[in-house]
Amino acid sequence: MKYIYKLKELMKRLIKKARFILTAIFICLALVASNSIQHNQIVANDPSTNQCLVAAVTGCSANAQEPSIPSQPVTEEERFVAAIMPKLKVMPAPGSFEYTLLRSYGAAFINPADDVKLPPKLIFDNEEDTKEFQSQLTLEKVVGTNECYLQKSAADALNKARTQLNIPLKSGYGASDCLRSFATNLRFWHKYANNQTLEKVKEGKETAILGLVAPPGTSQHLWGLAIDLGVFNPQQRQILNQNGWFQTVVKDVPHWTYLGVAAEDLPKLGFKNQVIKGITYWLTPL
Ligand SMILES: [Zn+2]
Repeated sequence: MKYIYKLKELMKRLIKKARFILTAIFICLALVASNSIQHNQIVANDPSTNQCLVAAVTGCSANAQEPSIPSQPVTEEERFVAAIMPKLKVMPAPGSFEYTLLRSYGAAFINPADDVKLPPKLIFDNEEDTKEFQSQLTLEKVVGTNECYLQKSAADALNKARTQLNIPLKSGYGASDCLRSFATNLRFWHKYANNQTLEKVKEGKETAILGLVAPPGTSQHLWGLAIDLGVFNPQQRQILNQNGWFQTVVKDVPHWTYLGVAAEDLPKLGFKNQVIKGITYWLTPL
């Protein structure tokens, strides 16, 4: 009897231990399962995984996190800004004086040639500032003129046009039609306008004057990429256009800007054309 009793006690203990071990195994399995569910939730909440999941519809790629390129064609303004940024460096804030100047005179920044230099800013402060920029330019004389200089590419293109057809300078021969000093720009400004006009231009309240004369330190003539010509017929305009020269300042009839691109490329670069009294002006889309 004593042995039977001991056997029963042993069996009871074994069952207790087995229950404990089974309970421990069950808890362990439950914990592993729970951890696995949490891990799956974390993976599902990962944005990159979600992008891949979404992209799986159209095909998941390694660069799923890169910004997508808009499927719609970019606007004229976006095309123009993208094209001038290599030479402009810093885009002025909309509504600022610099932005107004870029809109009115910034067409030249489109020039893709490496040897054509554009100024680091849209306003030169004084003569010294202007000369420092002009000293970096490779200039060339316009053939048959008296001291009329332009940047070499611009002069070459104009000289070529002038071999094809007679295209006189506005003054007939003079230097003031071509590369100008800060002092000449200032003198011309005071001929047509004053400090009050300048304040109005800065405030965005006056724009018409910009087609007559450039504010001090802002003329395209300071860059060696503009010339005033005595053009009177469509053939002369056609030859100039074919050589990269265009009218870009609305109502400034004698003023020509060297853009160095073909006419058919101008709309692709965002330019808009405006025809006034039979003259086609190519304007920035700003
Ligand atoms: Zn001019």
